[in-house]
Amino acid sequence: MPNHQPPLTLPEADRAAAAPPPLAAWRAQFPVLSQQIHGHALAYLDNAATTHMPLAVMEAMRRFETHERANIHRGVHTLSQRATDAFEQARATLKRFIGADAGHELVFTSGTTESLNLVAQGLWGAGPGQAWLRPGDRIISTGLEHHANLVPWQHAARMSGAELVVLRPDAQGRLQQDALAALLTPRTRVLAITASANATGERPPYEAMLAMARQAGALTVLDAAQAVGHGMPALSALACDFMAFSGHKMYGPMGIGVLAGRRDALERLHPLRLGGDMVEDVSYERAIYAALPARLEGGTPNVAGAVGLAAAATFIDRIGRAAIDGHLHALRAQAVAGLSALPGVTVLAPHATQAALVSFVADQVHPHDIGTLLDERGIAVRTGHHCAQPLHDHFGLGPTTRASFALYNSAEEVERLIAAVARALEMLR
Ligand code: PLP
Repeated sequence: MPNHQPPLTLPEADRAAAAPPPLAAWRAQFPVLSQQIHGHALAYLDNAATTHMPLAVMEAMRRFETHERANIHRGVHTLSQRATDAFEQARATLKRFIGADAGHELVFTSGTTESLNLVAQGLWGAGPGQAWLRPGDRIISTGLEHHANLVPWQHAARMSGAELVVLRPDAQGRLQQDALAALLTPRTRVLAITASANATGERPPYEAMLAMARQAGALTVLDAAQAVGHGMPALSALACDFMAFSGHKMYGPMGIGVLAGRRDALERLHPLRLGGDMVEDVSYERAIYAALPARLEGGTPNVAGAVGLAAAATFIDRIGRAAIDGHLHALRAQAVAGLSALPGVTVLAPHATQAALVSFVADQVHPHDIGTLLDERGIAVRTGHHCAQPLHDHFGLGPTTRASFALYNSAEEVERLIAAVARALEMLR
């Protein structure tokens, strides 16, 4: 059996040291970082949008493409069997990574967006009499969500005749449990909630909220796109029926992601992609769909992506989620302190100490202008609504500037960020 996980060569002594983190060894895994942008060393602070991939992930994918590439589940020949093994091994690695148990299954998708669409459409797609969502039912989403966990529910409500109710955050952008309790009714069929808000870094009390919704008889959906690479509880410890995430936000490839969940909940979903590989038996008139996970994985999947994503999970665990989180929280605290001290700068959700990102606005200055000036200094940040426009409306804000951190970022880069924002504000005011 070929080895899909090339060894990560971090010195033992470095790994053992709690502080400071062995940043040089971590960074050496990411060749993309050692380049100049506009004559400055790249400081890549757009990790909530997409993280970079370590050599270990690229090597795992290169090996697959070089030695094992073939279509899966269909061939008796050796390469097809190797590719199938690689895909199923990746599934097993990722199940372990998220803490799935025997009652769970894991389905590969193209990313969080597809995973959430698969759930939202799957819950009404079976049609009248069969669907989980019916006229008069209630779907609850929250005011913190990325559009990917809101727009599919708007559509599901329209198609099924259910109502969509949004759990509004308070003025600081927090979700309150008693506010959720007030929305739960016997007709509540779904709660869809983020584990970490991509626009503010807010971490809602999702463990308790998922449990409350399940208690009320709803299916529970967790958008873990910004959380899965961090210190999340095991899936088996959560009252969570569906969990979605993307590879490219956890040091893995683009175009691959996961929908994991309870088998019985996944079995309720009408498949989104109908066709090859997801059927048991087909005649001209009808098809009998295959069992999970194939049932929800119609068509040729991104096998190299799955292999790369599993390698990313292994990479994260070799470094250790606690060590990564400690580093990210320290960078965030440093950024919040430095940015808040600048005149006319307001940091969103300053209380969110567990966040790996910081979003801010500056009086009289447009975020796009800040972002452009930072790019001239080699600093990559994101500006805009971060696909969470309703949350910005809730705050009465326009676009913001967001710096988001990954394990390879340094305190020195955060210092450069603060200094460059200060300089940009002087130039722009
Ligand atoms: N949910 C959250 C919280 C996100 O941050 C993102 C991406 O920024 C998404 C969903 C969508 O992820 P993808 O574009 O990988 O499907």
